[in-house]
Amino acid sequence: MDVKAVVSRAEPLRQHLIDPEICIRCNTCEETCPSKAVSHDSRNYVVDATLCNYCNDCISPCPTGAIDNWRMVDKARPYTLTEQLAWDSLPPETPVDAGPTAELPAHIAEITAVASEGQGGTVLAPWSAAHPYVNLYTMQKPAVATVSGNYQLTAEDASCDIRHIVLDFGGVPMPVLEGQTIGIVPPGVGSEGRPHPVRLYSVASPRDGERPHYNNVSLTVKRVTEDHEGRPVRGIASNYLCDLNKGDRVNVVGPYGGTFLMPNHPGSSLFMVCTGTGSAPMRAMTERRRRRIALKEGGELMLFFGARCEAELPYFGPLMKLPKDFIDINFAFSRVPGKVKQYVQDRIRERSADVVRLLNDQNCYVYICGLKGMEQGVDEAFRVACREQGEDWGTLLPALRAQGRYHVETY
Ligand code: NAP
Repeated sequence: MDVKAVVSRAEPLRQHLIDPEICIRCNTCEETCPSKAVSHDSRNYVVDATLCNYCNDCISPCPTGAIDNWRMVDKARPYTLTEQLAWDSLPPETPVDAGPTAELPAHIAEITAVASEGQGGTVLAPWSAAHPYVNLYTMQKPAVATVSGNYQLTAEDASCDIRHIVLDFGGVPMPVLEGQTIGIVPPGVGSEGRPHPVRLYSVASPRDGERPHYNNVSLTVKRVTEDHEGRPVRGIASNYLCDLNKGDRVNVVGPYGGTFLMPNHPGSSLFMVCTGTGSAPMRAMTERRRRRIALKEGGELMLFFGARCEAELPYFGPLMKLPKDFIDINFAFSRVPGKVKQYVQDRIRERSADVVRLLNDQNCYVYICGLKGMEQGVDEAFRVACREQGEDWGTLLPALRAQGRYHVETY
């Protein structure tokens, strides 16, 4: 492959590229890019060097990190879109691409610094989080798991079907931390003859397995039968997963995610807000802590969990059995006949004193996962709660982010 290393008198360009081997074609980068520099065909996602302005908006949302690739090239001869669309893998890194910035010629180092600013976004993992493994398996080389369980979490008469699906990896290493996601590759092709896109799911099990010390992972999957506006659609991956039987084999890619991770230090607290199947990472984190109760490591767990009603709240039964002094649970039900509609943000406002006490606790880490719509509502609830308690959310939020204490994953 042609390597366009910077030659001494060429004007250098740190070109932004997407790794086709890791990219799962989820379209997040194309949707995020404000300068329309990202595009795709049926094979690859690519970046137009003439349009990319290094804003880095696309870096943090990319679930795989495929977006975070850079090569030093001659500005007059960047990799073209045609070249990138034909790649099966990135061109090899040159010493200039890989070398520490300090060792680069000044004019190149400057460009490198600008391009690196904010790479990975401003989102930081908790300082005591375990180191995550990412991108161990790709679409070209997926891990193959065997279904060892598929259980309905919702009541038979509930208006939706949410399932707890257990995947066993046997002798194939799949080290995942609570808060990470894995990608499911549905078999077959769509109407245009292209493979179905990978769908990401948060693991619902703790790092030592759904069953302790087994190499298995659980997922919380809702069978998608309608879109957010209630129009009928059939979710390819969710229906594939929900219909799996014990013994079926599933192609898995990932794991992904290097920041939505739980703290590991004794005395650390978890503040969790979720809706529906956004509860998957909260279940993983809660179960991790539950399995360690006997160690008496301290710290608090506070959970705000929204669902339409009890029958549709995944893990309602097991959650109700947890000791009250282990976790402070606040449900918000939105569609209980005869009851006022409640969202998680309403419960947060009701508990403003405890909420603000935890937000102010340097050892407390906040996790928000679920519907996109709740992000703004929860932000506003924190603002109101802070105001009631004589604090300023506008000052607190940037501090939480800078300390790796604020984590949001909404869809
Ligand atoms: P859902 O059943 O549609 O909704 C759950 C609850 O959230 C309902 O009570 C709903 O109320 C309420 N809600 C709706 N809009 C809200 C808003 N603006 N603020 C606060 N609450 C609101 O949820 P779901 O279908 O399970 O969706 C969960 C989301 O989590 C999906 O977007 C999914 O992609 C995402 N997610 C899933 C996973 C996973 O591993 N499966 C992981 C991470 C995230 P009403 O509908 O009654 O208004």
